[in-house]
Amino acid sequence: MFGRAPKKSDNSKYYDILGVSNSASQDELKKAYRKAAIKNHPDKGGDPEKFKELSQAYEVLSDPEKREIYDQYGEDALKEGMGGGGGSHNPFDIFESFFGGGAFGGGSSRGRRQKQGDDVVHSLKVSLEDLYNGASKKLSLTRNVLCPKCKGKGSKSGASGRCYGCQGTGMKISTRRIGPGMIQQMQHACNECKGSGEVISDKDKCTQCKGNKVTQEKKVLEVHVEKGMQHGQKIVFQGEADEAPDTVTGDIVFVLQLKDHPKFKRKLDDLYVEHTLNLTEALCGFQFALTHLDGRQLLIKSNPGEVIKPGQHKAINDEGMPHHQRPFMKGCLYIQFNVEFPDSGALSLDQCRTLEMILPPRPGNHLSAMELDECEETNLHDVNMEEELRRKKQQQQEEAYDEDDEPSGPRVQCAQQ
Ligand SMILES: [Zn+2]
Ligand SMILES: [Zn+2]
Repeated sequence: MFGRAPKKSDNSKYYDILGVSNSASQDELKKAYRKAAIKNHPDKGGDPEKFKELSQAYEVLSDPEKREIYDQYGEDALKEGMGGGGGSHNPFDIFESFFGGGAFGGGSSRGRRQKQGDDVVHSLKVSLEDLYNGASKKLSLTRNVLCPKCKGKGSKSGASGRCYGCQGTGMKISTRRIGPGMIQQMQHACNECKGSGEVISDKDKCTQCKGNKVTQEKKVLEVHVEKGMQHGQKIVFQGEADEAPDTVTGDIVFVLQLKDHPKFKRKLDDLYVEHTLNLTEALCGFQFALTHLDGRQLLIKSNPGEVIKPGQHKAINDEGMPHHQRPFMKGCLYIQFNVEFPDSGALSLDQCRTLEMILPPRPGNHLSAMELDECEETNLHDVNMEEELRRKKQQQQEEAYDEDDEPSGPRVQCAQQ
């Protein structure tokens, strides 16, 4: 363990994971962890790996002793035991202890801690034109807001009584098995008082919200889709989700869903388009207009004397997608050319002779009558090569199964044990 000196590197990863600078205060660390852990909690569809990483990063950085070791020697030093008992804890324990431990309102005058409201996630369909030009979309949403009449108290007098269901805590705890010997504790909002910890007498209920503390509001959100945004990118409206008493309002999140485009395909900042030329165009030159995603007509033409071969690509610089946040920088537009040949029978014998005079001569055919005599006749037939290869692959797999069934195969040996 002491044989090699700890590397003085890789001591920024934990800060990066939490998205804070390496001079962040304990308060900033707490805030960053709180926000990220709620977002990435597996119960809310977050990535378990990411959640684990967050907990790990927070566990180290929130401990001044471990943080010092980490800052000096990096992650490996902690793994090698310099931090003392380096084994990492269950990320859910850290989450629970964090949220149970007065992370919210620890120093506030209010006795009750604030809950984190749920984020509301919508998918937003966009066209490639939207992502190229930028777009703004108005969406009408209904959401809960604190009742303006009683200011979220729910009662006329502003008073309320303690809920019996949860003894006024607003929370009920349930446990669930998540594996052999592993139990996860979950906190739920009390269903009797909807997590408020209090009940209001019928007489005292606010007339507008009927004691619910919230009312519905229709709101129009204008979503700005910026030039160059990607499929799957998120646009966040912070604190615009449902309001509830003593709750930090969650975010409304729009996730962009790119619709297929009939002509263009996108890869990162590049655009791909296919164009089919006929044989005359491929051999003798072509020009055509291509309508771009902003409606501009691009004139695409061959150079004098240029012959285009089937499958050949050409590129035009700066006609790809704009780069997000630097829209004046654009990717490439790649054009793949297909060449359409005339159908069989389209050329008469005379036309063939004329073509032979123009096109390169056939390769010298020096088969003498005697050599021809020694050749065997063959028969060329049409095949669909994709179909052909698929069939052959299937055949191979079937043969592989057959081999497994033979008595000397490893499967049988296993079964005898
Ligand atoms: Zn009210
Ligand atoms: Zn209750």
